[in-house]
Amino acid sequence: MAARLPLIAGNWKMNLNHLEAIGLVQKIAFSLPEKYFAKVEVAVLPPFVDIRSIQTLVDGDKLLIKYGAQDISQHDSGAYTGEVSGPMIAKLGCHYVVVGHSERREYHGETDAIVNAKVKAALKVDVTPIFCFGEKLDVREAKGHLELVRQQLEDGLKGFSAEQVAKIVFAYEPVWAIGTGKTASSADAQEVCSAVRSFVAEKYGEETAAVVRVLYGGSVKSSNIGELIQQKDIDGALVGGASLQADEFTKLCALA
Ligand code: PEP
Repeated sequence: MAARLPLIAGNWKMNLNHLEAIGLVQKIAFSLPEKYFAKVEVAVLPPFVDIRSIQTLVDGDKLLIKYGAQDISQHDSGAYTGEVSGPMIAKLGCHYVVVGHSERREYHGETDAIVNAKVKAALKVDVTPIFCFGEKLDVREAKGHLELVRQQLEDGLKGFSAEQVAKIVFAYEPVWAIGTGKTASSADAQEVCSAVRSFVAEKYGEETAAVVRVLYGGSVKSSNIGELIQQKDIDGALVGGASLQADEFTKLCALA
């Protein structure tokens, strides 16, 4: 069985102007040696408005860096003002799309049913969904995190076959760790990532569980990636704040 290739994905959120975005992709792509990309997949997830230019840059210079979107509509087309569809994202050459980020769940009312529809929309156009889930602080303090994550997985994956689940990247992001500087300990992150893999094994078979990548996200930086990535069930990271600085992000990628 081939080892799972680690993935470090930088979620830029609603940051940077267009020139800064292009500059950041160039800095990351050119400062990582080519041979390095065989050991780790590096992706950036910029705002929609930057994606066309990043596509041109990546295609034109044959860059090995991947890119993706931060959200996807559950609908293919129609009267959905402000939405961006799966076919549009696929046309931009996106490899990945974030689905179910806690900020979308919190500020845009995304329910597990919507997340499920968005994962489906991504798979339909062969764009890999990075399916995010994780507990808030009160749930963690009440030790209900494993149960909650299990429910989020159950609901988010409703109706999918093992073949479809094998194409999903899972991202455990405890809400209390996102943008707070408070990282989960590597043991706590491993506990949940291992539970995710066990859930996939139980529902979709051992073979599927062995291939899916499970990321951890929540205040990941170059100073803590080393310990996190050593955990058996952590296959990389979804990185917010630290992905906006070229030096810090490339250092982080190099340590993954
Ligand atoms: C995120 O937005 O997915 C994230 C993990 O952010 P940060 O790394 O800033 O906590």
